[in-house]
Amino acid sequence: MDGALQPRAGRHYPRSIGEFQSWFATDADCLDYLDWLRWPEGFVCPRCGHAGGWAVADGRYKCAACGGRTSVTAGTLFDRRRSPLTVWFTACWMFAAQKDGISAQSLQRSLEIGSYPTAWAMLHRLRSVLVGPGRERLSGTVEVDETYIGGEEPGLRGGLAKGKKALVGVAVEVREPRGYGRCRMAILRDGSAASLHPFVSSHVEPGARVVTDGWTGYHGINELGYTHEPRSQRAARARRDDPGELLPGVHRVASLAKRWLLGTHQGSVEEAHLQSYLDKFVFRFNRRRSRNRGMVFYRVLELAVAHDPVRYRDLVVDPQAKQAPPAPPGRRGHPPTMDRPRAGRPWRTT
Ligand SMILES: [Zn+2]
Repeated sequence: MDGALQPRAGRHYPRSIGEFQSWFATDADCLDYLDWLRWPEGFVCPRCGHAGGWAVADGRYKCAACGGRTSVTAGTLFDRRRSPLTVWFTACWMFAAQKDGISAQSLQRSLEIGSYPTAWAMLHRLRSVLVGPGRERLSGTVEVDETYIGGEEPGLRGGLAKGKKALVGVAVEVREPRGYGRCRMAILRDGSAASLHPFVSSHVEPGARVVTDGWTGYHGINELGYTHEPRSQRAARARRDDPGELLPGVHRVASLAKRWLLGTHQGSVEEAHLQSYLDKFVFRFNRRRSRNRGMVFYRVLELAVAHDPVRYRDLVVDPQAKQAPPAPPGRRGHPPTMDRPRAGRPWRTT
């Protein structure tokens, strides 16, 4: 992947729904775009690493060195998909364009996807790409704390949501003079040093200043290469600061995440899927200033072509619970593949 590329609106990704529809009218258009995203400098054989080959009649590439044949989608998120790529692209566009996230039910309705499990698996696949292995750790001044998320929320739909709350580690960069940078969230086994120290070291760059409360689980993190700044409630009271505002950054992120889960998923998140919802929230939070949703669409697809495929059976932890949507889907609109203008491929014209 070409890290130096600065993608431009209208050239590398669509600026609007109209542009999106004209660019991706057919599966061939989508394949062409994925081809460009995956191999911006031309085909590179994933088997032997040789750069160079040619397109063969079945639509795949043949490597000039080893002779192996590779399709554009092989080994990516779109490998062995059942739905057409146009449907996948539209799902991805909706996924990126909806400000508050999207539920499987509304995806099923909008795309007229036959079954709820298909829509649900699509969304989970898209979410699964959001955790890239090479993510940079947080740096500068970072607040770290834990909070309980998920399970039963008091007063919510008669408390019908199943499961218990999960302990979640939250880390957020604090900017000077004010404001916040990126955040990270991960489920913790417990609040012990054995859980908290690995959380800090896998999400915060050594050398950072780490601000926590006085909890003993954070003792000793200065030995991991951080400048540890524990803040005690007692000291806050002595300074006449509000002890509840000891770590305002993590509390802001945690409350936004909880509100987002309630709004998008009615708070009923199975613990087995909580981490992927947290990843989705973190992805959105960290891109909250990127106004162009086309850019988010581009980044998701860019990650998707570099991503191993995820199978439906890998996602289904409790298949029984996912066989039916919360309410019967309505029928409205028509498939987004209709009425699209045919157009050229503007990202090729340079
Ligand atoms: Zn090869």
